[in-house]
Amino acid sequence: LSLIFSLLLLFANAGFAKEPLRMAITVDDLPSHGDLPPKVTRLDIATKMLSVLKMHKVPEVYGFINAQRIDGDPDRVKVLEKWRAEGYPLGNHTYSHADLNKMTTDEFTAEISKNEDTLIKLNGKADWLYFRYPYLYEGNEIQKRDAIRKFLFDNHYQIAQVSADFEDWSWNNPYARCREKNDEKAISWLKKSYLRDAIDTLKQEMKVSKVVFKKQMSHILLLHIGAFDAEMLDQLLKKLEAMGVEFIPLSQALKDEVYQIDPHYVAAYGTEFEYQVLKSKHLTAKSLGIVPKWHYTQKKLDAICR
Ligand SMILES: [Zn+2]
Repeated sequence: LSLIFSLLLLFANAGFAKEPLRMAITVDDLPSHGDLPPKVTRLDIATKMLSVLKMHKVPEVYGFINAQRIDGDPDRVKVLEKWRAEGYPLGNHTYSHADLNKMTTDEFTAEISKNEDTLIKLNGKADWLYFRYPYLYEGNEIQKRDAIRKFLFDNHYQIAQVSADFEDWSWNNPYARCREKNDEKAISWLKKSYLRDAIDTLKQEMKVSKVVFKKQMSHILLLHIGAFDAEMLDQLLKKLEAMGVEFIPLSQALKDEVYQIDPHYVAAYGTEFEYQVLKSKHLTAKSLGIVPKWHYTQKKLDAICR
């Protein structure tokens, strides 16, 4: 009996000692992102990502679409149909991947509305009222920012914020070039740096969450539908699982009360939600003793396999 009691205590302690690390996964820019390596199609990329997501039992992975990118191309239509056939929903990422910094409020809201026909047609009963800002640009002026938010809420959208972003997209074009050249050494560097940055960045984001929200927030990871993202997804999910990540639906992640905060943060660039809240408190990561550990080097990615 005492053994059972000690075991129970052990489990209870283990439960309290470690805060759960919950994460929703989202994929942007359906049906197409980045350059294609030789002999790879858009549908190959989607098929590969979907099979890995299913294998790891990741629930409710929203694919955020730009309907303009379908462009009458049957292979691209199939990407969206395949996403739905696997039971995953589609969300709104504007019709043409619109840049809010270069647009008026009216032009931008028209971009949101113009994407809806395709969403309604493809989503069936699934809830498509989730919005992901292109480039994570939420508005470079407060009036514009607030007007877009009002439009979204008036139209029953939820904002699909991002808490975990390691610039995954920036490996896709270098990978296509390196595959073209069959440069295995360069590709192995791409793989190593992608995983390293993903995990290092997440650890930073977890620290910021603890400081800003006094707890581990429900994370929302941003990925893109690119050839290298597809290539790396299985290894990435394994790394996350090894860190104790539990995959949850986006709808559940957004119920975390932290996402009810409006940071009133205005910037010409995009940034993760916890950093918006941090900056709205006039704090920086550096001021909290969090030293950004950026291995990510745009320069090297730009130069590789030219
Ligand atoms: Zn995008």
